[in-house]
Amino acid sequence: MSGETVKAVRAAGVVGAGGAGFPTHVKISAEVDTVIVNGAECEPLLRVDQQLMAAESAKVVCGLESVMEAVGAAEGIIALKGKYAEAYTALEQATGGKPIKLFKLGDFFPAGDEQVLIYEVTGKVVPEGGLPLKAGCVVLNVETMLNTADALDGIPVTDTYVTITGEVKRPLTRKFPVGTPVLEALTLAGVNDAGRIAVIAGGPMMGSMLEDLSVPVTKASKGFIVLPAEHPLVKNKTLSMQYILRRAKSVCIQCRMCSDMCPRGLLGHRLSPHLIMRGLNHLQAGSDPMKSALLCCECGVCELYACPMLLSPKQVNAALKKELSAQGLKPEPPVAEKPVALFRDYRKIPSKRLVARLGLTPYDVPAPLTEETYSPQTVYIPLKQHIGATGMPTVEPGQRVAKGDLIAGIPEGALGANIHASISGTVKQVSDFIEIQADGERGGE
Ligand code: SF4
Ligand code: SF4
Repeated sequence: MSGETVKAVRAAGVVGAGGAGFPTHVKISAEVDTVIVNGAECEPLLRVDQQLMAAESAKVVCGLESVMEAVGAAEGIIALKGKYAEAYTALEQATGGKPIKLFKLGDFFPAGDEQVLIYEVTGKVVPEGGLPLKAGCVVLNVETMLNTADALDGIPVTDTYVTITGEVKRPLTRKFPVGTPVLEALTLAGVNDAGRIAVIAGGPMMGSMLEDLSVPVTKASKGFIVLPAEHPLVKNKTLSMQYILRRAKSVCIQCRMCSDMCPRGLLGHRLSPHLIMRGLNHLQAGSDPMKSALLCCECGVCELYACPMLLSPKQVNAALKKELSAQGLKPEPPVAEKPVALFRDYRKIPSKRLVARLGLTPYDVPAPLTEETYSPQTVYIPLKQHIGATGMPTVEPGQRVAKGDLIAGIPEGALGANIHASISGTVKQVSDFIEIQADGERGGE
């Protein structure tokens, strides 16, 4: 059965739903003791996982059981915030009599950071720069569990659940075929004038600005947060790197609040963003303090919550990570491991306070889940929407496809994920995406 699950998940093109889209069949090819389903959904305003755990609890549990079998894990844990009461009750029923535990997380940010989650749930620290496997764990997203359960029934990934919220008339959570243009999805939430808004793809802490709203929804999309163009969060996310560096070099007061609040530093990893900010004035990217930027998970705590000068250590780290990775540089392994900070529990950021700090309190409202899938007229399915190699098209313009047909495969011997038609229709274009036009008029709703 274990090999069958991996095969089915590979065939169905399952990737991490949310985040970078790591191919799931590779993740579950390992042997581990514990499988953790990450139901924290700690990014403010996103409402997908908490509602899916309530509405699709049996499927989440089915996906988890198959993965546990595939990786040989004796333990399965679904970690979710205690405040998701409806999801908790549904999962309690669905897990009755099964070797699966529920773990109640506190309402703090970033409870869903993979390494923070593993520490909260198991008390183990993933060594810095290491994968969860080093702590005997594999961590998977809630929607990935649904897609795994579907894969076992031969159903490939063609749709994805997305929350659309913020400055919209009707905040919503809904299933969209992969390849639906984002702007089209936004209109369902009541966005009519795209010229006066800014859109963050993902959560407000880790997401990035969408410059072009004609881009498509992908398998890894989780949310789109619409904000007025002049919102401070938008300003922060659109600063130029030149401006960020100039400010960092001249204004950082070395108060070290960024380091004191850093969730990875608090776990004992050698990450001190204030040293990186200090180093900008006199250190090379390849020097030891600067190489520690590679340990940053880009959670955004340092710049969107901790820094009293409104500086951007996260964005500095992100730029350094790119430069260091291009040079193939890595931090030296630690001589001795540092313990978890004694006061770590007192430095967790309460979600409500974070929402207020981000200026998002007016938007912290429900985004109800609609089960109905949206029906676009045309989809533009990217050949690269996951970590690894770009998909190899298996269709040509003019060819008719049915929803669920394979349209791009994994290149021989490469890390990647299969891609399937998300609607039935005719292939119009094959380039770095595959355009499919639906047959006849589609109503949208
Ligand atoms: S919190 Fe801001 S001002 Fe303080 S050390 Fe960090 S970057 Fe500098
Ligand atoms: S973004 Fe900032 S707070 Fe988060 S891990 Fe990186 S350095 Fe630490």
